[in-house]
Amino acid sequence: MDKDKNKNNEKEKSKKLLISLIGLIILLVIVIAGIIIYNQKNKEDEDTLAYTDLIKEISYGNVEKVELTTGSRTAKITIRNEEEKTAIIPDTEAFITLIQTKVAEGNEIELIQKPQSFFAQLPATLFSILPTIIMVALFIMIFKMQGLGEKGKVYDETERKTKVRFDDIAGLEEEKGELIEIVDFLKRPEKYTKMGARVPKGVLLYGKPGTGKTLIAKAIAGEADVPFISMSGSEFIEMFAGLGASRVRKLFEKARKLAPCIVFIDEIDAIGSRRTSNNGAESENNQTLNQLLVEMDGFGSEETIIVLAATNRPEMLDKALLRPGRFDRQITIPNPDLKGRLEILKLHSKDKKLSDDVNLESIAEDTAGFTGAELENILNEAAIVATKNKHEEIENDDIEEAVKKVTVGLEKKERVISDKDKRLTAYHEAGHAVVSRYLPTQTNVKEVSIIPRGVAGGYTMYKSNEDKYYISKTEMQEKLIALLGGRAAERLVLDDISTGASNDIEVATQIARDMVMKYGMSDKLGPIDFQGKEPYEMQMFGENIGDKIGEEVKTLIDTAYNDAIILLKEHRDKLDKIAETLLQKEKINEQEFNQIFEQE
Ligand code: ATP
Repeated sequence: MDKDKNKNNEKEKSKKLLISLIGLIILLVIVIAGIIIYNQKNKEDEDTLAYTDLIKEISYGNVEKVELTTGSRTAKITIRNEEEKTAIIPDTEAFITLIQTKVAEGNEIELIQKPQSFFAQLPATLFSILPTIIMVALFIMIFKMQGLGEKGKVYDETERKTKVRFDDIAGLEEEKGELIEIVDFLKRPEKYTKMGARVPKGVLLYGKPGTGKTLIAKAIAGEADVPFISMSGSEFIEMFAGLGASRVRKLFEKARKLAPCIVFIDEIDAIGSRRTSNNGAESENNQTLNQLLVEMDGFGSEETIIVLAATNRPEMLDKALLRPGRFDRQITIPNPDLKGRLEILKLHSKDKKLSDDVNLESIAEDTAGFTGAELENILNEAAIVATKNKHEEIENDDIEEAVKKVTVGLEKKERVISDKDKRLTAYHEAGHAVVSRYLPTQTNVKEVSIIPRGVAGGYTMYKSNEDKYYISKTEMQEKLIALLGGRAAERLVLDDISTGASNDIEVATQIARDMVMKYGMSDKLGPIDFQGKEPYEMQMFGENIGDKIGEEVKTLIDTAYNDAIILLKEHRDKLDKIAETLLQKEKINEQEFNQIFEQE
């Protein structure tokens, strides 16, 4: 919230600044244009004389007076017995020489050379300095905006101490345990330095987006009651060349003033990715990274500044960042496990009205792989669904609906679907469900539906997998069969295939590729990592290695597809039964699904 408020203020200020500068530039242009038009008009009022005519008049001896203004090519000419005229002189120097020769020859021509009046000079002067004015204005604007950015990030006197505490983080007990030390260090640095302990300088938090890295950094600052200064890695490089390094310098200048404090750099991979070549954007990136290293090496034990940085791409980071004295502590923030999810759901439902029928345990079970931010989002969606359904409190169904809304998309009951398409969807979904029923490693079916949701025409939801670290080859092979069960059913029953399987095919292909290229699960190719290798590196594995990988991926897919066809042929009665029930009821839940199989 604080962050948002600061950001808005910052945006407001830079917007105002931009508007006033644009206003100033427009005003200048109008003034200059006005003066030019005025001068032009004055000139048009006077009689003009062509240059050739002027030369003729001079040679006839009719010209009495010539008045020239320096820097201008218009001259005032007085011809005997006539009104004053103006003439444009192409080459003033040559013209003056001509007059002087005529005078020397005895002609009576009065030659007056006047300096230019200030008013006449003004437009030209303004015009010449206009680009400079615009440049200066732009620079002022950029630096102001940069300054605003930095100011906005530091919580001001009253706000800069965050109110977040460890109690606001659900789960992550071990991680909190590791970090409590940092809090203690910030509170009582002398206790550690007396023992000769080296000051921890940097802590890297690895974890997927939304796992609570920012929350943890804030909680450390909150617990230790020290200021929290934050900046995102991408902000260092999005500006102009050279600014990244200076922003790092300024950030640490500020930190030194506020020490003891926490500096939080989100998305550190944006500046901290491996230093490579020395050109363009990369060299800008390198400068920023070098500056960060200099700053981190620079502060000594008397300054208690702890730099916390977050990333979800640890493999991208420059090794120099991880050396002792820099980010020498690395803490992985995992996706929450079952217990963690339950705690996050409990924490974020505290301020929501939940009905007694809500079973957070079962919601936690159904949301394996979800991050804290996603769980928070689900509860928020549930409150919206409950309001839409005119419920007094959030009911269990509202939360389950929210989970589906977040995972598959919004239910589209109103969409008109032809009978042919309905039949196709029914068989496609029944295909997935029946096949997975006979695959031991696959989880039970939770719900099958042919009501469109999001972009999907129908869906089969499975019970969530218990949290586990490893997936076996058999499990992956069976996953492929389950994924291709939809397409197999279409082929078997309707004797044609449709576009409905595109997502299944995409996922299946990715799994098969990973099996071969990442997890070394192909017997023919062995346990080798083929991912992201340059062509010359691939050559190491023999000629046509690409073809061989392709063949292996194709074999995995073909085998799975054939297995799905075999399973469906064998259980054709169940396939028909599920599809028929779907056409009648549109949705089948877990019990109804299981009943069909127990009916024998
Ligand atoms: P990103 O990498 O996108 O910056 P992040 O890992 O820093 O993400 P946060 O911004 O800290 O994630 O988390 C987003 C929100 O998710 C938090 O504000 C909080 O409401 C919720 N959240 C995430 N993890 C937890 C948790 N363990 N306990 C309570 N709330 C959590």
